[in-house]
Amino acid sequence: MLPSNPEYTALYHNLPRDASFWSFLFSIDQDLARTARQQACPCGGRLHSAKYPRKPRGGDNLPEEYGRRLSFCCERDGCRKRVTPPSVRFLGRKIYLAAVVILVAAMRQGPSPRRVRELSQLFGADRQTIARWQVFWRELFPQTRFWKVAHSRLVPAVAVEILPLSLLNAFLGRGDPCQDWGRLLLFLSPITISGGLASDVSR
Ligand SMILES: [Zn+2]
Repeated sequence: MLPSNPEYTALYHNLPRDASFWSFLFSIDQDLARTARQQACPCGGRLHSAKYPRKPRGGDNLPEEYGRRLSFCCERDGCRKRVTPPSVRFLGRKIYLAAVVILVAAMRQGPSPRRVRELSQLFGADRQTIARWQVFWRELFPQTRFWKVAHSRLVPAVAVEILPLSLLNAFLGRGDPCQDWGRLLLFLSPITISGGLASDVSR
C-alpha cells in the first residue's frame, strides 16, 4: 500500500533549496566534523584539516563551502591516515547533493509519480542517473548494515518497499522543513562515510 499522506506532494515543492537551507546543512556538517576531529587518529596522532574538492550538482545558490568536503588527515609522518566525517550534504561519492538523491527517487514513487523528463528538467539529472538512484534505494540501501540496524529506531515502521518515499513521509511534515530535512539527512549520514554502505554479510 502506498502512503496516503495528502501533504507529501506539497512537501516536495517545499524542499527549501535556498541559500539559508544549504548553509544550515553546512553548519550540521561542521558539527559532525568537530566531533570527528575531537577523536584522535587510531595511531594517536592529531587530525589536521584536509578538505577535498567537490562539485556538487542539483542545488541552486550553493554557498562557496559546498566546493569542499570536510575531511581530516593524521599529522604523523608514516601514518597520514585520512578521516572523513559523515555528511548531511554529500552522499558518498554521488555527485548530486544527498537531498536531491533522496527527493528525486521519491518523486518517481507514490500515487502520482513525476515523469523522468520533468525531474531531469528540475534537477538536471539524466535518465540513467535517476534510474541508478532508484536501484540504490530499492536494492542496495535496504541491504546495508546501517539500514538493518537503524530502521528499527523509526516509529512507526518505514516501509522498505517504497524507499525513499517512506523515509520522507517519516521525517517531513513535522514542522519547519529545514529542521525536518536536517533530521532526515543526519539519520542517513552514517552511510556517507567510507564503508557506510557495507552490506550485511551475516544475513
Ligand atoms: Zn595516524
